[in-house]
Amino acid sequence: MNDTHSVGTEMRPLRVAVVGSGPSGFYAAESLLKRKDLTVSVDMFDRLPTPFGLVRGGVAPDHQKIKAVIALYTRAATHPRFRFFGNVKLGLDIQVTDLTAHYDQIVYAVGNESDRQMGIPGEDLEGSCPATNFVGWYNGHPDHRDHKFDLTIERVAVVGVGNVAMDVTRILTKDPDEVAGTDIAGYALKTLRASNVKEVIVLGRRGIAQAAFSPKEIKEIAELPGVDLVLDPADVVVDELSEDTLADANKRKNVDFLTAQAALGEGLQARKVRLRFLVSPVEIVGVDGRVTAVKIEKNELYRDDNGTPRPRGSGKYETLPVGMVLRSVGYCGVPIPGVPFHERWGIIPNEEGRVTEGGRVVAGQYAVGWAKRGPSGLIGTNRGDSVATVDKMIEDLAESNAAAAVGNESEKFPALLAERGVRYVDFDGWRELDRIERERGKAAGKIREKLTRVEEMLAAIG
Ligand code: NAP
Repeated sequence: MNDTHSVGTEMRPLRVAVVGSGPSGFYAAESLLKRKDLTVSVDMFDRLPTPFGLVRGGVAPDHQKIKAVIALYTRAATHPRFRFFGNVKLGLDIQVTDLTAHYDQIVYAVGNESDRQMGIPGEDLEGSCPATNFVGWYNGHPDHRDHKFDLTIERVAVVGVGNVAMDVTRILTKDPDEVAGTDIAGYALKTLRASNVKEVIVLGRRGIAQAAFSPKEIKEIAELPGVDLVLDPADVVVDELSEDTLADANKRKNVDFLTAQAALGEGLQARKVRLRFLVSPVEIVGVDGRVTAVKIEKNELYRDDNGTPRPRGSGKYETLPVGMVLRSVGYCGVPIPGVPFHERWGIIPNEEGRVTEGGRVVAGQYAVGWAKRGPSGLIGTNRGDSVATVDKMIEDLAESNAAAAVGNESEKFPALLAERGVRYVDFDGWRELDRIERERGKAAGKIREKLTRVEEMLAAIG
């Protein structure tokens, strides 16, 4: 039996499942719900009981202003045609076939949940880990809350000079009192208070002109009380291959700032952040399975076929004694059963957001955010990117001129979850968790004390 209403009307809304509740998922939902020409209902799924993805689990606790976007996402979540299904994992609790049977379109907003490897010996030694583990740990992410970080050591190497490298360097060197009132996980604050770390060496494989951090972030580190930002003047030379890069105002600001910083020398503060450029780790060295040093090779730049300055080893090595290595060389996606995946790129293969498999578009399935383009850009970058995918979804809908099948019924989804014994958390459930976390925070003199285990969260909301 077929429903005669066309899809996207009050009688038969366009039913969209958004998988993932980080920025890209919320921008897609917002864009769909705001449409004047179509009536859309959005069901958003997340494997965690809590929404907001990296805004909750990635953004550093001392950068609270960045989290203001949560208010915007909450506004979208309170739309009458929006539902949140937290604690529901695609590929485990539900399958892609469940979604295709109940929704007209699926949007994968699953981000990049893993880290890139460097592919050098010693990467798996104890004391060497992805910076994202450390980020998830201090942010109380259930996947990462049980990692152990031995901060009795004095020296840490951070590989990479991107935004994440700056976040972990700052958290490692900042006075813990400065973050005590934030939403940092209680156990992390305790470990940081007992930290013995005196030096963080940050390793950039290319030159100062190619550093990926922003001028604001590096200045923030230089201005940390009790910390000197130290550079070797020999490292702040901009070679001729990098001159074009300086047309970018931020890169130019970085170079000017770092040049001035290098002239200040060692400084007198107890803690040091040492920035090194044109060096690549070639081995992480250990004794008894634990990191004791990182061996680096001096690089030189060359232009690749596209004219981009790239690093290559010069055959000159140096060994830096360190007790921990945080690899901050980028994120990559993880495959989800039933969803196409590009192993090498670590993303869901797509053409302008339309998911593809073997080069052919998979009808009704779309990707947004890092799952679509890889780990680049700031939170706001995802807005335009998600809107662009939504435009394709609407274009496809017009072309297919789909008529609704009665069985294509998202209203039945809660019953399906109940039947399978999946205990989902709706947006009211999240609000209750939010209230509980704030209360716990108040008692501890913090803006929030997160619940960091899924079982704890489910028990708290009863
Ligand atoms: P990123 O900005 O891409 O930086 C990765 C860094 O790792 C680069 O310096 C890169 O050097 C280096 N690298 C890559 N492979 C390497 C290797 N094999 N050996 C040595 N170095 C290597 O990535 P990210 O810091 O992980 O950040 C991910 C995204 O999140 C970015 O879009 C970032 O803007 C965003 N983010 C933003 C904020 C914020 O706004 N405060 C905070 C956190 C994250 P090359 O340049 O030579 O490739």
